[in-house]
Amino acid sequence: MNNIKKVLLVLTIFISSISMVACTKNNSSEPISRTNFFMGTVVKISLYDKKDQNIISKGFDRIRQIESEVSINKQGTELDKVNEAAGKKPVKVKDDTFAITKKGLEYSELTKGSFDITVGPIVKLWSIGLPEAKVPTKSEVDEKIKLVGYKDLQLNEKDKTIFLKKKEMIIDLGAIAKGYAADAVAEVLKNEGVKSAIIDLGGNVFALGTKPDGELWKIGIQNPFQSRGEIVGTIYVENKSVVTSGIYERFIEKDGKKYHHILNPFTGYPYDNEIAGVTIISDKSIDGDALSTSVFSKGLKGGIDFIENIKNVDAIFITKDKKVYITEGIKDNFKITNDEFTLVN
Ligand code: ADP
Ligand code: MG
Repeated sequence: MNNIKKVLLVLTIFISSISMVACTKNNSSEPISRTNFFMGTVVKISLYDKKDQNIISKGFDRIRQIESEVSINKQGTELDKVNEAAGKKPVKVKDDTFAITKKGLEYSELTKGSFDITVGPIVKLWSIGLPEAKVPTKSEVDEKIKLVGYKDLQLNEKDKTIFLKKKEMIIDLGAIAKGYAADAVAEVLKNEGVKSAIIDLGGNVFALGTKPDGELWKIGIQNPFQSRGEIVGTIYVENKSVVTSGIYERFIEKDGKKYHHILNPFTGYPYDNEIAGVTIISDKSIDGDALSTSVFSKGLKGGIDFIENIKNVDAIFITKDKKVYITEGIKDNFKITNDEFTLVN
């Protein structure tokens, strides 16, 4: 995003948050909401029962805290220190950084490296979503790919240290940090007595509890071919995370070819298969975030099998030819609302 766009976005958020606060104040059936820019995306917290702006502020404080520890697009974060000490020494970190990295390592192991949080050098090389994004040369990719490998990432549970064995290795928690933050905000809100809220971190949605009247939340599933707002269908949930990853959200185009931001750690290039977008429905948003990114590596058939084997997790796969595939657990729940798309199973 260039600077002008960023300023405009911030202004829009500012104005819409003022108007939202203003217009929801006197209407008791409406939530109170606030929108802010964090973790490279638009974050919105909406409270439906305990309508207290201080609680929303506490939610944002929690996100700010997590971002300041694990971002690699900000200078001087804890994760930066871990990356700078690569090949030199282990670095002691705070609980959040340790917990996210640990989860990231678990998913790297589970997928045998097709999801790999040490993919950082390749992510930096492409920089997709940032102004400096470019298609790297083959030799640049070959050079950086040598630095990727979760087996060279060591965590020490007792000392709460993280160690990257090779110099210039980089941990990138971009695939799971938003999920972790959504769970953390849900925790903050629950501790404040909130029983009915929606936390939305740019596609990572946590639907806390139920609607105030006890009804289920109706969540729209993002159309992966459009920018935010357009949906493919709907699903009803209670106290669930609904996370979407899509290939048309962050990408660059060169010579008529689109390169998106979910990268194959073995080749250094974006995964290229029939999947355009995946939504994961799970209890914890960190799992949904990790899984929505992971399944891109598995393709459609492999991805569905992979999710069917995980308890209490469901998924909606949308292919490039606009077909929709869903897992068993949501067969009676998911409904297509957009007639450009066809439900296959
Ligand atoms: P978004 O951040 O757009 O919601 P994802 O949750 O799918 O999307 O995460 C994509 C991010 O994950 C990338 O921007 C990059 O930082 C990181 N990433 C890319 N490829 C991989 C991979 N194979 N394994 C782990 N992380 C990855
Ligand atoms: Mg993810």
